[in-house]
Amino acid sequence: MPELPDVETFKRYLDATSLHQRIIGVDVRSAYVLKGISARELARRLKARCFESSCRHGKHLFVRADGDLWLRLHFGMTGSLQYLKHQEPAPRHTRVLFAFANAHCLAFEDQRKFGEVGLLKDVDEFLKKRALGPDALDISLSQFKEIFGKHRGTVKTILLNQKLIAGIGNIYADEILFRARVHPATQISSLSGKTVMKLFRATRYILKRAIEANADVALVPKSWLLPHRGKGGKCPGCGRKLRSATIGGRTAWFCAHCQRKSH
Ligand SMILES: [Zn+2]
Repeated sequence: MPELPDVETFKRYLDATSLHQRIIGVDVRSAYVLKGISARELARRLKARCFESSCRHGKHLFVRADGDLWLRLHFGMTGSLQYLKHQEPAPRHTRVLFAFANAHCLAFEDQRKFGEVGLLKDVDEFLKKRALGPDALDISLSQFKEIFGKHRGTVKTILLNQKLIAGIGNIYADEILFRARVHPATQISSLSGKTVMKLFRATRYILKRAIEANADVALVPKSWLLPHRGKGGKCPGCGRKLRSATIGGRTAWFCAHCQRKSH
């Protein structure tokens, strides 16, 4: 499931391939992913415009077209982008295809169709309406401390709550907790100020480093949990078997030896 590092990687890919080219058509192959707009309207409003820039907040990507129109992309469970040159066939699960004047295309593909495509006038208004928290890479230490001081629950559910901190999903929440050596089921009321600081640092480090690795599991450090998580996986720190548990409705992977509940 695409999280902040994946979406940042899509952003950089889009910026490198798809800006400043006139859009000559928008082919909606599954209107299911469209939110608040019809296929005809999407095509009508984007036609003859160019994508000029993009910005990301949490797991949302916003692409500005000239005329102050924003295309909104959310990648759901399986969404991704692919830039196609000339007559390259579109991937099988393409839901929306943006065709440019140079005969290249940008495909929004999404096998499971939990993704979202829409148009906006104002990004800030959208973020407010969704009540999204600050982006996990922009959040300040004082904001982070405030969240941990004000709420109740397990540390993992707090990290996953998009209304508190936007961008962290199941995989990177586990990775952040592994780096900070905190058990995912720890109640945040029992965390010391020092541990909250450790979590803040781990959040920034893990997300930044994952972006450097293009959010590719093959490229992240082997000392991370990510290449080892799953049945039979062993802790890269101590070699003991990793454990899993359902926390906040999601499967958490962790090392019961290296990650403690008391801090
Ligand atoms: Zn361990």
